[in-house]
Amino acid sequence: MLLITCPNCGPRDETEFHYGGQAHVAYPENPAELTDTEWSRYLFYRENPKGTFAERWVHTAGCRKWFNALRDTVTYEFKSVYTGAAPAAAPASTPTGGQK
Ligand SMILES: [Zn+2]
Repeated sequence: MLLITCPNCGPRDETEFHYGGQAHVAYPENPAELTDTEWSRYLFYRENPKGTFAERWVHTAGCRKWFNALRDTVTYEFKSVYTGAAPAAAPASTPTGGQK
């Protein structure tokens, strides 16, 4: 059983949460100017690092709020959790870890 610490509720069982994908994927500034390839990259292309990864999670069975987490994709260890209002803990668009 994996414990995930909700920033609002504290440690809870993983079954209370849902995964929301990679964190800090910025919406394009001028989406109408993107090519189809650029748009598809925004929609579908995500990092898949071996190591620390910034993710979005929602506490579905609790406060129902979204938050970010830094998780090690190898060990499943949650290194930190933070709300969207505190991006300082995030590696932004440069997640560390596995290159090919
Ligand atoms: Zn919560």
